[in-house]
Amino acid sequence: MAKIINVIKGTKDILPQEIGQWHNLEQKALEIFTKYGYQEIRTPIFEATELFARGVGDTTDIVNKEMYTFEKSDRSLTLRPENTAGVVRSFIENGMSRLSAPVKLWYKGPMFRYERPQAGRQRQFHQVGVELFGIKQPAADAEVILLAVNYLKSLGLNDLEVEINSLGCPECREEYKRKIKEVLKPEFDNLCEDCQNRYEKNPLRLLDCKVESCKTIFAKPEIQKVIQSDFICEECAEHFSQLKKYLDKMDVKYVVNKLLVRGLDYYNRTVFEIKSNNLGSQNAVCGGGRYDSLVRNLGGEDTPAVGWAMGMERLNALLPQIPPQKSDAYIVSNYSIEAMQLAEELRKDGFNVEFDLSNKKFTKQLEKASKVAKYALILGEDEISKGQVSVKNLDTSVQETIDRKDLRSKLKNDKNS
Ligand SMILES: [Zn+2]
Ligand SMILES: [Zn+2]
Repeated sequence: MAKIINVIKGTKDILPQEIGQWHNLEQKALEIFTKYGYQEIRTPIFEATELFARGVGDTTDIVNKEMYTFEKSDRSLTLRPENTAGVVRSFIENGMSRLSAPVKLWYKGPMFRYERPQAGRQRQFHQVGVELFGIKQPAADAEVILLAVNYLKSLGLNDLEVEINSLGCPECREEYKRKIKEVLKPEFDNLCEDCQNRYEKNPLRLLDCKVESCKTIFAKPEIQKVIQSDFICEECAEHFSQLKKYLDKMDVKYVVNKLLVRGLDYYNRTVFEIKSNNLGSQNAVCGGGRYDSLVRNLGGEDTPAVGWAMGMERLNALLPQIPPQKSDAYIVSNYSIEAMQLAEELRKDGFNVEFDLSNKKFTKQLEKASKVAKYALILGEDEISKGQVSVKNLDTSVQETIDRKDLRSKLKNDKNS
């Protein structure tokens, strides 16, 4: 026998017995996002490497360590590690800035990051996300957060905690960065390597460092004083307080977390995360924020934007599996042509119907029927000659012979009950 080829480390098959919850996640997304006026966009799985270098930011782990990059015909290409950059590219390239604002888009699909695989973290993973373009007012920030909360609730995740923060604008943040650098300067040699590397270029990113020794440093009172200080300018503060007002009025519970800076370089003003307390432990299920300079940085016109993404594997882990749906009927017959004809008629009428394709013994066919269908439709010589069919309810084992013309209403009554 030939050697078996295995699935690649960090990737996974989604098998038929698991697909039910995936379908649910996708259908609820379409349903809820459509309610809010978002339209689905599907961008390519791979893009020019430069798009992510500029769009995600060249100080991020994603761009520096985690991208799947390859050469083809002298071009450097990369499997998308996230989808905001791709959506922004498409927004610019297709002239969507000429559409009247807001332009509301959503996406779902696989993303790729070369990370150490662990529970709930794969190298090929899936995200669902939304992007809202053209609105600088805080109502847009509030809408995308409300949308995320309602999507999660529609899935049955009710115990949610929304964390928000404001990173200010490039102007007011400059002063904050300077102060953070200043207060951390005496500690520079004690910071981890990542923090030392980010110290010059992106000091805010230090705040979400997960290394214990760094966390201890940041917890020092004189450093906390700077971290917790209100650095944002008047306009940014007004934006943030308006956002809070919207969330209050919409009954979205939230906490302000000053350490929330998110892993991407492009955010300004609002950043947020949503955590779910389902299954006992706390899990971040959604992250997003405002990115008013990204469209311009990628060559488009100045366009404010805000959006979020959710990891679908994470959502799946929090939700119960949905078992595969049984077919309405399975035709048990040794007359394959008649069985196929009946199956086609019923399928046209909206029923899900299977039948045996290989003339197995009746008992084998019935066995299969009881596993995959609600009814067995027995089509023997007698039934065919009389224009009848024997209908066996596979839950109750009750069997009756009826005229073929009554079959649809028999199945339909059951389908609706
Ligand atoms: Zn500001
Ligand atoms: Zn660190």
